Amino acid sequence: MPSISRDAPPAVMRAAAQWLAGQLAFADGRVVETGGHPVVRGEWLHADGAPTILVYGHYDVQPTGDLAEWQTPPFELTVDGDVIRGRGATDDKGPVYIVLKTAQAFMAQEGGLPLNVKFLFEGEEEIGSPQLPAFVTRHAGELAADLVISADGAMWRPGEPSLSLASKGLVTMDITVHGASTDLHSGRYGGTVANPLHALSEVLASLHHPDGTVAVDGFYAGIPGLTAERRQQIAAIGFDEADYLSGLGLDPASRCCWPALRARCLPPRCSSECSGSRRCSSRSRRPTRSCTLRTSSSASAGCGRGCGRGSSCGGCSPPGRTASAQPMPRLAASASASGNAARPS
Ligand SMILES: [Zn+2]
Repeated sequence: MPSISRDAPPAVMRAAAQWLAGQLAFADGRVVETGGHPVVRGEWLHADGAPTILVYGHYDVQPTGDLAEWQTPPFELTVDGDVIRGRGATDDKGPVYIVLKTAQAFMAQEGGLPLNVKFLFEGEEEIGSPQLPAFVTRHAGELAADLVISADGAMWRPGEPSLSLASKGLVTMDITVHGASTDLHSGRYGGTVANPLHALSEVLASLHHPDGTVAVDGFYAGIPGLTAERRQQIAAIGFDEADYLSGLGLDPASRCCWPALRARCLPPRCSSECSGSRRCSSRSRRPTRSCTLRTSSSASAGCGRGCGRGSSCGGCSPPGRTASAQPMPRLAASASASGNAARPS
């Protein structure tokens, strides 16, 4: 089902939700309205005395992008050797399917589940879960559980199950750099006022030290250091960095990456993605460059998703320097104060 939360017709999203609710028939599966794409709920609470877990997942997917780049139709599940191909196969329809089939197998073979299980599947994860916080607040009592398990994550590698613990929070912000009041000719103005693109680059470059650690003042405040035991634990993971990089098409000899395992496990991270830049050549628009900045942080030194070793990932390098080379606000202010969008002559 093309349940692309960003732009699918509501009827398509509802059909996906209803299919999912049908799979939860053993747990009173149902579609619940949210004001956006509906949530699918269900619960099986007959394991007297056993803990109660809440399983989260999502039935929406990202857009397909250019269909010409797909080897097979994105919404036709294709089994190709050991590979299952299709939009959402890993994020998050496949993992949700595993939850459904595991529970159904218990019901069929054992007549019940070993735990009390509540199910919460949303249809808006890929667009930032705009309805979920209010939904959880409204239904806090019925969603209460001893443990929450997210079925929206990754395995460390095929054949090696993993649990992610102490998932990080996420903060995003948009940075917009405005230039001069109009487009400027590079021959006449180039080199006299800053280009917003250059100013934004300076802002972004100020966020990290050359070794990849975050240079923003206070970013690592409250993050405990790593113990020798935890360093040993991560050292034992058996991570082949050269293999990891070559699998991504990157040259380990180039300075394109920071130590990958540490970067994936380091408690807080900061990344940016440029987006929404306006065309410099448009005389009708104020030259502007913008980007979205994402930061993640955690009160604990545990790993986020992707590391695969959860809180045992203790061998990560320490946060590193906390000094700020160039505080972002100062740069942001100066970037806003001047700008130029030079166009080619
Ligand atoms: Zn997901």
